[in-house]
Amino acid sequence: MRILVTGGAGFLGSHLIDRLMTEGHEIICLDNFYTGHKRNILQWMNHPNFELIRHDITEPIRLEVDQIYHLACPASPVHYQYNPVKTVKTNVMGTMNMLGLAKRVKARFFLASTSEVYGDPDVHPQTEEYRGNVNPIGLRSCYDEGKRIAETLTFDYHRQNGVDVRVVRIFNTYGPRMLENDGRVVSNFIVQALQGKPLTVYGDGSQTRSFCYVSDLIDGFIRLMNSDYVGPVNIGNPGEYTILQLAEAVRDMVDPTAEINFKPLPSDDPRRRRPDITKAKTLLNWEPTVPLSEGLKLTIDDFRSRMSKSGQVAINR
Ligand code: NAD
Ligand code: UDP
Repeated sequence: MRILVTGGAGFLGSHLIDRLMTEGHEIICLDNFYTGHKRNILQWMNHPNFELIRHDITEPIRLEVDQIYHLACPASPVHYQYNPVKTVKTNVMGTMNMLGLAKRVKARFFLASTSEVYGDPDVHPQTEEYRGNVNPIGLRSCYDEGKRIAETLTFDYHRQNGVDVRVVRIFNTYGPRMLENDGRVVSNFIVQALQGKPLTVYGDGSQTRSFCYVSDLIDGFIRLMNSDYVGPVNIGNPGEYTILQLAEAVRDMVDPTAEINFKPLPSDDPRRRRPDITKAKTLLNWEPTVPLSEGLKLTIDDFRSRMSKSGQVAINR
């Protein structure tokens, strides 16, 4: 098949492209390189099945494709809050452009949505039926509400125009290729520990998240895209950890002498998050296989090798 991956030069998009290229598909990677990098897709640059287009999805584009994985959108709070209006435009105009493309060429459309549509949840763990508790006017709203309207658009194109759609709600995912300045918690802690700096825990560290290793997530993407189920489906690892536990785990693996510093909690930071993955298990026969300790080790090794090349590593255990 000819498959378009928007945001393909980013963290998740590039892992998805690796998997789709290995399966023998023709891939068009579309990215504006806001948080994505050519080095993530370098290995495919000269491959005859691979094409890279620098393009901003807030502008329309005409292409002929069979499937669209729509991932383009900054995912880290630091990056999506840098230009919140642009984040809304990417989610609203960008998603509408990609749905319009899917409608015109009759391509199957896959939306990378997020657990953030549940906001600061009053229901725990979160099932797909839960409608969420999202602040419409806060610092996270450009992303949370942006993704909610992206879901709405996807379901309206499905009902009104018969576009074949799939919607995944992704829970916190980590792994190799995350940016050193990504700003999300796993990469921050690993970079800080490798540089011999204190780990920055926001608040008292009692808030929880559930961390999914990237290869598990991509496997869930492929299963959903090729199933008959429209979604939304939660894909994430139900293992739930406090942020302090995560800091201690990274510290113990990189540098047991590292300090942990407590910083103010950002506004609207969700108190807890854990996916109910019953739907993914029963409808897609999917469940995660990589435990946090193993995934962290693979991620730390990747950061260590990238950062030692640029002379940034202080701790070499
Ligand atoms: P990322 O920032 O690494 O990737 C996003 C990619 O989209 C980047 O390559 C960026 O340059 C590109 N992009 C951003 N705006 C664009 C635009 N207007 N036009 C074209 N390209 C644009 O983030 P990621 O972690 O790979 O996330 C990918 C998708 O998955 C996002 O939609 C994100 O919301 C979703 N998601 C990720 C997580 C996670 O834990 N990683 C969790 C929930 C949802
Ligand atoms: N966090 C932290 N230290 C950091 C970065 C993040 O304690 O250096 C916390 C953050 O406040 C949140 C959790 O870790 O409670 C996850 O943050 P992230 O930005 O990774 O994802 P999200 O909040 O979007 O789930």
